[in-house]
Amino acid sequence: MRPLGIFGGTFDPIHFGHLRTAFELQQSLGLAEVRFLPTGDPPHRSEPLADANLRLAMVRAAVADQRGFTVDDREVRRAGVSYSVETMDALREEFADRSLCLLLGMDAFLGLPGWHRWQELFDLVHVIVAHRPGWKAPTKGPLGELLVDRGTGSVQELRQAPAGRLYIQAVTQLEISSTELRQLIEAGHDPRYLVPDSVREIIRESRCYARSHD
Ligand code: ATP
Repeated sequence: MRPLGIFGGTFDPIHFGHLRTAFELQQSLGLAEVRFLPTGDPPHRSEPLADANLRLAMVRAAVADQRGFTVDDREVRRAGVSYSVETMDALREEFADRSLCLLLGMDAFLGLPGWHRWQELFDLVHVIVAHRPGWKAPTKGPLGELLVDRGTGSVQELRQAPAGRLYIQAVTQLEISSTELRQLIEAGHDPRYLVPDSVREIIRESRCYARSHD
């Protein structure tokens, strides 16, 4: 069976940098599905500005017309902090022998050593890292060592083993970030062509980032 991709994020809001990256990884790795998994109460950063249900609604709207893109709302539904290792553990229980691929941008990967029980992630999933503008792959330290120990350039290996490998993928570099989007909207500018129209509409109607752009 083809691997399952899991794309976690705050998605505050979801943008074309997320969607294009997920799409290219879906294609290059032959993922049967990419599950977008919005965080509820994120442990690694300050509180998001749009509440979890609104972020979830934006993700649902954004992925609605792409086959194989799905939404997993377990972290939003769960009260309290969700650690990735616990979420991956739950997914592993559901998908016994399936190849599971956790998709991360390079910036998120560089923060991995700060994650709760991060080394255990490799017992549960493969980690797939997409390049992101402004961030370089590590060559030293724990992540440099991890690349030597677990790195692979073989998609075949990702399909054959259920977990345990680290794979870095070049994707089209789109310099879009949620933080910059929120700042742009707050300054009264229009996020058009940076987010799907359906997401832009939700932002406009809910006024979740304070100022509307019309
Ligand atoms: P912020 O700017 O507030 O940090 P973000 O744009 O990074 O937000 P997140 O929801 O934190 O959005 O990101 C979810 C995942 O998507 C992370 O793994 C992140 O590295 C990745 N990602 C986000 N934007 C891009 C992009 N433009 N290109 C590639 N990966 C991205």
